[in-house]
Amino acid sequence: MQVLFLSSEVAPFSKTGGLGDVAGALPSALAALGHQVLVVTPLYLGVPREGLEDAGALTLTFPFGPVTARLRQRPGGDGLTHVFVDVPPFFERPGLYGHPDDARRFAAFTMAGLSHAQARGFLPDVVHANDWPAGLAALALKRGYAHTPLGNARTVFTIHNLAYQGNFPKSELEALGLPWSLYTVDGVEFYDQLSFMKAALKSFDVLTTVSPSYAKEIQTPLGGHGLDGVLRARSKELSGILNGVDVREWNPATDVLLPARFTSMELSGKARCRQALLDAYGLDAPPDGQPIFGMVGRMVEQKGVDLLLDTVPRVLEQGARAVVLGSGEPAFEARWRQLAQRFPTRLGVKVGFDNALAHLIEAGSDFFLMPSRFEPCGLNQMYSLLYGAVPVVRDVGGLKDTVVDVAQPQGTGLVFSELTSAGLSRALLRALDLFRRPDEYRQVQRRGMAQDFSWQRSARAYEALYRTR
Ligand code: ADP
Repeated sequence: MQVLFLSSEVAPFSKTGGLGDVAGALPSALAALGHQVLVVTPLYLGVPREGLEDAGALTLTFPFGPVTARLRQRPGGDGLTHVFVDVPPFFERPGLYGHPDDARRFAAFTMAGLSHAQARGFLPDVVHANDWPAGLAALALKRGYAHTPLGNARTVFTIHNLAYQGNFPKSELEALGLPWSLYTVDGVEFYDQLSFMKAALKSFDVLTTVSPSYAKEIQTPLGGHGLDGVLRARSKELSGILNGVDVREWNPATDVLLPARFTSMELSGKARCRQALLDAYGLDAPPDGQPIFGMVGRMVEQKGVDLLLDTVPRVLEQGARAVVLGSGEPAFEARWRQLAQRFPTRLGVKVGFDNALAHLIEAGSDFFLMPSRFEPCGLNQMYSLLYGAVPVVRDVGGLKDTVVDVAQPQGTGLVFSELTSAGLSRALLRALDLFRRPDEYRQVQRRGMAQDFSWQRSARAYEALYRTR
């Protein structure tokens, strides 16, 4: 099959979160199954320019004005090509999202992707678009390409996070050249705004999301971010496929970003990583029997940062250590920094984005904390399982689908339900208790390290979905 894959971030070229990881790994897993995959993504400021080949140019005409895009390509091996959409006024800025003209930036990226596929004679069997930035692709295909070979493509849309919807002032509808007839409750209108996400949920042939549990949760008022009704109406076309882990990047036995490598049978390398982690944060070693808790992630409400800020002091007071890496809402960043001042030898906080440090945290920690309010799939808990950092998670979304509580025979982590500081606190006390029983802790850790999260399984599930008509 020929697959046109549209994503506003693709690791290792650009990434703010899980979407980048998925768009980095899934297309190559599909190519490994024998498909031809063309990945299209914006050429942001931070994307390395070396090795990019010219792949032509095109001009898009929008009512807001013309957009000239140069296309640059990078062959990614058998069956895989990355194409970068180069529109300097749109993408050569700091930060991927959050600009006032995001509707235009990402509509232009999407249209350039479709237009370029046609121009290079790549006739996709499937157009697979990801998250709101590519949410207008199916509408564009129906409206502008209906009578071209591109118009026959099956359209698949993956929701990586329903909380980010791409909602814009309705005046953008005209600016983008969409007719007011689409601006209805059955169309792209959402609380009197133009919604790229809603447009997608209404117009793609097939909808997927990144875990089976999240697929269910987003059809309920509690998890639907206002779009549960729209999703319930499409429940027959909606399914959840768990993300995989890119084991070329995340494998403790081969990870070149670590000071030492390790496996579940030979854990001495993990002990060296643990010490390197303490050194990196300038922390004292915890007393015997006390663990290091690690946390990596965006500092936003979704991730339960407020719960962590309330409860982590309790385990620090008992002698445990904690290391935190992330960035996000300034108020959360400030509260973590304040807490680190209160526990200078026990709590380390780094605000920022640091991939190598993220690897060291997974490798050096004894437990990994992820008490999310909601979690479409979550990658960090899977990395932590593979790296022997026993995860402490809430039973929601992909966390629920990947971690089994230690009370079960095949337990791999600590799972709690109650979305309160008391709920998390009880889970942390259970973690401390488990760590005091080293034999049992090792068994839990080893079971986690033996999990198989390879992309091949997920890629096969997407392949099956692409095929069904
Ligand atoms: P989300 O997509 O909601 O941010 P995921 O757990 O699915 O959460 O994916 C987050 C990805 O981004 C992981 O690969 C994680 O390691 C990475 N990440 C998040 N914050 C940071 C950070 N501050 N530094 C390095 N990597 C980070």
